[in-house]
Amino acid sequence: MYQSRVGLVLTLCAALALWACTRQPTFVAKHEPWRADEERACLASGAVRETAFVTTRSSLGGPSACGAIHPFTVSATARGGVTLEPPALLRCPMIPAVDYWMERVVIPAARHHLRANIVAIKVAGSYSCRPMNHVIGARLSEHGHANALDVAGFVLEGGYVIRVKTGWRGPMPEQNFLRAVHSGSCNVFTTVLGPEYDAAHHDHFHLDLARHRAEGRICK
Ligand SMILES: [Zn+2]
Repeated sequence: MYQSRVGLVLTLCAALALWACTRQPTFVAKHEPWRADEERACLASGAVRETAFVTTRSSLGGPSACGAIHPFTVSATARGGVTLEPPALLRCPMIPAVDYWMERVVIPAARHHLRANIVAIKVAGSYSCRPMNHVIGARLSEHGHANALDVAGFVLEGGYVIRVKTGWRGPMPEQNFLRAVHSGSCNVFTTVLGPEYDAAHHDHFHLDLARHRAEGRICK
């Protein structure tokens, strides 16, 4: 009996080792209870209500570590005044953060530095079940939790687009506007990565609400 049990355990171990060797993990997902707690608290608070531009999405798909309890599709922010192109898939806590950021950071910065109004955001990414920076075996990105937004640019009234890619080192007003948005974003989001961070972020701002143990906030 004991022998057969040992045999079973050994067989299981061998099977697991084989599985681990043959199946390269695409990402590492840590168990982080704060995520669900934070999302449930946000949902219960009523901070996010369904509107013409914030709608419930039944599911996000992808492996179980990815997704959100109650994801939303967001097609506009600032009470509908600024559209998201294309609409973003976000979890509850990101939605009031994006609203606040638009109204307190982006719109004032555009008025101050560009004498212009913002009518849309160019969204470069939101929900995506993938490892950080697309590196196989890295930690699951905040994008995998619908807890991140990548912004490539801002559309002004009249149609002119300020792009992170060309404006970061472009004409002075665009540089000043984008730098004001970048630094102001750090007061709203817990992770802000821009062109100074690395080559992968040369053309967009990455904004998320991850919890960081040591640093508190990452603003680069
Ligand atoms: Zn990103």
